[in-house]
Amino acid sequence: MRFTRLRLNGFKSFVDPTELVIAEGLTGVVGPNGCGKSNLLEALRWVMGENRPTAMRGGGMEDVIFAGAATRPARNFAEVGLSIDNGDRLAPSGFNDSDILEIVRRITRDAGSAYKVNGKDVRARDVQMLFADASTGAQSPALVRQGQISELINAKPRNRRRVLEDAAGIAGLYQRRHEAELKLTGAEQNLARVEDVIEQLA
Ligand code: ATP
Repeated sequence: MRFTRLRLNGFKSFVDPTELVIAEGLTGVVGPNGCGKSNLLEALRWVMGENRPTAMRGGGMEDVIFAGAATRPARNFAEVGLSIDNGDRLAPSGFNDSDILEIVRRITRDAGSAYKVNGKDVRARDVQMLFADASTGAQSPALVRQGQISELINAKPRNRRRVLEDAAGIAGLYQRRHEAELKLTGAEQNLARVEDVIEQLA
């Protein structure tokens, strides 16, 4: 799976529709301070399902919407689309009927985020799993923030292990195990309730 295109519309400083083709090989983004280089990295994180506003350097998720400038009014929504080459058909089943997948996340003021894959509505979880199975995602160690290297050097061994697990491609399995544990806990609680009811009827 290779990222091939990033589309932004109303996301942070990218108020006008902007499209970036991500060619094979190394891509460098250069520009003066404050021109939006970090915003591009955040757009990648965001479309992959990031839901911590702090990871977007904001106080709330709606802070990713263009907030207005002296000559431009604020926007009411922000949208980011990420195209992936799925020629090797490594996407999870359900997304595997196309050579190109476009994952789109859109946030509208007072209405939250919605996700689509190739135009079809999907859940945030589906998008997060899609990227986790491809050993990437909003919290992938491949996306390196400013200051992150020194954080990693000073990190606790437990947090450093997460980086190795991500690199080994088992992040998706951990997510699935967590969900299975939640279901198990729910089932145990239901069972306890049924036993209470049976006891009362006996
Ligand atoms: P540096 O080289 O200094 O790290 P950079 O190129 O990475 O800078 P960014 O940090 O990506 O730049 O962009 C910062 C710019 O984005 C600032 O001008 C800021 O005002 C603008 N910006 C951030 N959020 C929004 C928003 N919601 N609406 C409008 N502009 C925004």
